[in-house]
Amino acid sequence: MTEKRSKRTILASSAVAEDRAFGSVAPPIGLSTTFTWDDHREKPGYDYARRATPNRDQLTSCLAELEGAAGGAVTSSGLAALDLCLFMVSPGDLVVAPHDCYGGTHRLLTHRARRGQFELHFADLTDEAARRDAFARRPKLAYLETPSNPLMRITDLAACAKEARAAGTVTVADNTFLSPMLQSPLELGCDVVVHSTTKFIGGHSDVVGGAALAKDPGLAEELAWWANCTGVTGASYDSWLTLRGVRTLAVRVEAQQRTARNLARMLEDDERVRAVRYPGSVSHPQKNLIARQQKGPGSMISFELRDGLEVGGFLSGLKLVNLAESLGGFESLICVPDTMTHAGMEEAARREAGIAPGLLRLSVGLEEEEDLMSDLKHGLRQAEAMA
Ligand SMILES: *Cc1c(COP(=O)(O)O)cnc(C)c1O
Repeated sequence: MTEKRSKRTILASSAVAEDRAFGSVAPPIGLSTTFTWDDHREKPGYDYARRATPNRDQLTSCLAELEGAAGGAVTSSGLAALDLCLFMVSPGDLVVAPHDCYGGTHRLLTHRARRGQFELHFADLTDEAARRDAFARRPKLAYLETPSNPLMRITDLAACAKEARAAGTVTVADNTFLSPMLQSPLELGCDVVVHSTTKFIGGHSDVVGGAALAKDPGLAEELAWWANCTGVTGASYDSWLTLRGVRTLAVRVEAQQRTARNLARMLEDDERVRAVRYPGSVSHPQKNLIARQQKGPGSMISFELRDGLEVGGFLSGLKLVNLAESLGGFESLICVPDTMTHAGMEEAARREAGIAPGLLRLSVGLEEEEDLMSDLKHGLRQAEAMA
């Protein structure tokens, strides 16, 4: 990479006006699965679409530049990107992961480990002693996720990266919750950054995808090689849609975060709500680390209702906020992690991670703040009425 460009400029100018056939300003969609050769002895830049396509390359470059990566792979989903990173481990190697990671990640690692593909150790990586113990076991790969989903615990990425380097561990950080606008794991010393582009990056809840991007050019090339080898690369059309969606990432993240700050404050001040978990709260136990590591608190809020109030009653009072999984889209969504996003985790693991049956997770969208406030208040009134 040459000079470091502003993220807003990267978003607005990636792959713009690069079409040499017709001079299209917006990148054209290319759906061809195969490409012609000029000479049978010389492999062209594009040969077969599983390996590379112009649309997928455009998205990979844009995301790599946003994260300060040398390159990597755009995959068919976020989980495919995480799974791709496991090419680095062999049977007998140890993988360390947070005990309260994304439910699908927890399931993926647990079931791969059960097949003997690696040893697995779940730890509370937000706890200094537990973190030191985990790295003392010299894992081959440490999977990091911060803020944690859904409990908003913060892992110190720079401290993990430092301990990992001393232990010879490769660090893979899932940056889905904050997006490259609010956190830069590679700048903090991590080796690979992973995204579910289904969330903030795509931003429009209409395309599933993922990316794994590495700072080291050799590792970036290996990720791309394995993505082609295993066939987990993302579709061209999906890459085109995701690049279209990411254009507005900076303004979306800023607007959603502004609303989330005010909604979190409202929930904290309401006596019908307890245990609001939001990285922007003045009461967040890790606020110094948040200030050091994140450029902002983001737009995800988790909370529980006061004892005696039922989640069902609250949800039945919502008109604007929809009950659905996923996050980071233009529309506000609420979910109950215990029975929805994290149902793939075994119950004992959910309880140990602190995911209570009454925990709610809100992804704040782009609606008018006052409308969201009155919707949440309506839900709270309904919960009271049904108590
Ligand atoms: C959604 C999500 C994933 C999985 O991504 P998919 O695109 O659904 O496969 C991984 N990590 C986090 C933090 C997520 O929110």
